[in-house]
This record gives sequence, C-alpha cells and structure tokens, in this order.
Amino acid sequence: MTNNNIYFIANWKMHGNPTSVNSIRRVIGLSKTKKFRKVRIIYCPPYTLLDKFTNKTKRTRIFVGAQNCHTKNEYGANTGSINTKMIKSVGCKYVIIGHSENRIEGDTDQDINYKIKSALKEKLNVIFCIGETLDEKKKNKTQKILKKQISKGLYKIKNTKNILVAYEPVWSIGTGIIPKINDLQNQIKKIKLYLSKIFKKKDIRVLYGGSVNPKNIKSLKKIYEINGFLIGAASQNSKKFIDIINKTIN
Ligand code: PEP
Repeated sequence: MTNNNIYFIANWKMHGNPTSVNSIRRVIGLSKTKKFRKVRIIYCPPYTLLDKFTNKTKRTRIFVGAQNCHTKNEYGANTGSINTKMIKSVGCKYVIIGHSENRIEGDTDQDINYKIKSALKEKLNVIFCIGETLDEKKKNKTQKILKKQISKGLYKIKNTKNILVAYEPVWSIGTGIIPKINDLQNQIKKIKLYLSKIFKKKDIRVLYGGSVNPKNIKSLKKIYEINGFLIGAASQNSKKFIDIINKTIN
C-alpha cells in the first residue's frame, strides 16, 4: 500500500434514508484517532442525504461527495437534475463522475468531460471512474477503452490536482469478483503511466473499486500503487467498512 494518504470512498448508490446517517457514528469516532491520520474517508450518499451527512460530519476529518451531477453548472430548466453549485452549497467537497452505472444509463465521455469541468469550476474534487466491461476485456480492448475514457473524459483539463481516478472494472462491480492481484497491479501501473504521459505529472492518484470487502482487502492492499478504494455494498455496513479500513492500515 502507498505511504501517502489512503482514500476510502463510500458509494451508497440508491440506498439510505434519513436515519441511516446515524450508522456512521463509529466511523466518525475512529476517524479522529491517531491511527487514522493518513486515512481519508469520503461518504457519497444519495442526493437526498447530502445535507444530513455534511451536518453530521462537520468538524470531523470525513468529507462528503455526491454520486453524480449535471453537465451544466448554471441553474436552469432541467427537471430532476442537480448542478455542481447545488452540491457545493450543501457542504460537499467531492463528486463521483463517470460511474459505470451512469455510463450504462447514457453518460457519454463528452458528458463526463463537461461534468468534470463543471465540478472543477466549483472547486469540487472529482472521483473520475473508468473501467472496461467484461465483453471489452474478453475482446482484449481494455487498454484502448481506458485510454479513450481518460483522454476524452479529461479533455482540455489542465489541473489534475483535484482529480482522483477510480479504476473500476465493470465486471467486478457488485459481482464479488476482483481481478487477479498481479493483473490489477499491472493495470494500475499502466493507468498511472498513461496519466503521467498526458499530464506530465507523476502524482495522479488512482483508486481501485469493485467488490472490495473485508476478505479480499488483505490481498488488494499488497498493491503499492493503489491510493485507496471506492467501495459500494460493503461501505453501507459500518462494521464492514471499518474492518476494511483497519485491515488496510494495520
Ligand atoms: C461501486 O459502486 O463503485 C462499487 C465498487 O460497488 P461494489 O463495491 O458493491 O462492487
């Protein structure tokens, strides 16, 4: 595992109600301890709970992020949408953009690029998701797909300081299957190399996401190049989430 800060991003997807915020009490307590010094926890609940989460985590070292945003950062006639100004207005510091579940629902690389620009304009940090589908993997298209997602998603973006890239193979999300550790390490290295080539910077952080749980974390943490994890299902259960964090840092 990296010697730098380690990110644990909790993606609650379409789960949670107003009482769910109480379930993170123990995580908040632990985040204040010395042991968690290098741990960066970011909760991404659904839009309806953002305000509750930012209030609950005020004056703690835990941050809150939205799971998506509109391409525009102005207000407008866009029924059912949330722009990055609104996300910022409730105290969020992060936003997930390009999650495969949103790409499947129609987000193009260009939409993702506009969303990232909109988030950066509001000084939000971006968790930019990339990943190949099983079909693309079987057809040996993984590198081509990831390069396309990166180059189009980050088109004409110069400042990468506020961007975290999350590599999430689509075939690994919610399936209980993770890549072979050697393959994943090579893939993370390739992504970092590609990012360093286009941005002339070595320090762009890359996270892994896809079925991370308390059992497989011991193998995943062996990968030095990984800067943290984007965690879906297991993050909704504080006991499991804490277990993952503890096993990573111990
Ligand atoms: C995700 O939603 O980004 C994710 C990684 O989900 P899970 O951990 O449930 O596979």
